[in-house]
Amino acid sequence: MQLFADWHVHTSYSDGHATPEEIVAAAARRGLAEVAITDHGPRGMFIGVRDAGVYRELKDQAARLSELYPVRVLVGAEANVISLRGEIDVPEPIINELDVLIAGLHPQVWCKPWWETLTWILPNRIGKTSGWVREKMRESNTMALVAAVRNNPLTFISHPGLVMAVDLDEVARACAGTGCAMEINSGHHYDRDEVVRAALRKGALLVVNSDAHYPGTVGELGIGIQLLDKYRVPSERVLNARPAGQNAVPGYLPGAVGGLVRRTVSAGS
Ligand SMILES: [Zn+2]
Ligand SMILES: [Zn+2]
Repeated sequence: MQLFADWHVHTSYSDGHATPEEIVAAAARRGLAEVAITDHGPRGMFIGVRDAGVYRELKDQAARLSELYPVRVLVGAEANVISLRGEIDVPEPIINELDVLIAGLHPQVWCKPWWETLTWILPNRIGKTSGWVREKMRESNTMALVAAVRNNPLTFISHPGLVMAVDLDEVARACAGTGCAMEINSGHHYDRDEVVRAALRKGALLVVNSDAHYPGTVGELGIGIQLLDKYRVPSERVLNARPAGQNAVPGYLPGAVGGLVRRTVSAGS
């Protein structure tokens, strides 16, 4: 399996440790055709961008860097899911200008309404040891993530099941229905096998990314590629894979909003 893009990378505009140019130079060294800079949404506690206007600044930088390096530089957001109703912390006018829209559950986020930070996020942080709390949170997390998938034109969801537990089958079913892909995140340890199995069971697309926070790990996708091979996932089911026998980067179908990277779902199981 050959992958042409890494669509999940952070810079020092959020909690990464690199400038956009250092990221793009690293992507060029790795031989990637595309890289997307996807800093954390503004409601991430201590890890988010200053405000959503930062994504516009990054678009300007990406245009300049695309001229300088042999890499197509995209800009996206790793938005936070900020309510149980699946709202995200990037407003629609900004979404319209992005190339990639990711949403993920993170245990360090200021919710809207604020009290859900206490009633939903906090128990996720302290309830890891209690089976009952964990099960209750799993239901809440699943509800929020499924709503985010249904209500936003997401390219993919980041690291489903990392730290904040979800029912992966339910999430995969929602993804299969909307064309949102499920991420195999090479940069974090969690049950990635179960993500692949759920996506295959329910017919959802997959995508492999590094979630790099340093230039050195940009394009480090090996763990994900091994999993795709292990489960014999066909390249048509992987958003950032080159179709078998083709060298060209596939074109994109316009998403529901603007020019987001999306692909319609082919018939799933
Ligand atoms: Zn994340
Ligand atoms: Zn990330």
